[in-house]
Amino acid sequence: MSIFENFGERRVEPGARMECGICWFVYDPQNGDPVWQVAPGTPFSELPEGWTCPNCDAPPSKFMRLDDGR
Ligand SMILES: [Zn+2]
Repeated sequence: MSIFENFGERRVEPGARMECGICWFVYDPQNGDPVWQVAPGTPFSELPEGWTCPNCDAPPSKFMRLDDGR
């Protein structure tokens, strides 16, 4: 109903890629994050505490789910 319904709820499917709303950096769980030494296969929701965008330091809340295909 409300657009805030999913707010604060980090429910993203494990394989979902997430895009930074600031610099358009894309976090791909398949690749992990070499900057933060995140192992490949780590879902966005399991990134370490304090993780920020390796490109612009934006917090995870700035990230948006990237739709695959279409
Ligand atoms: Zn960024």
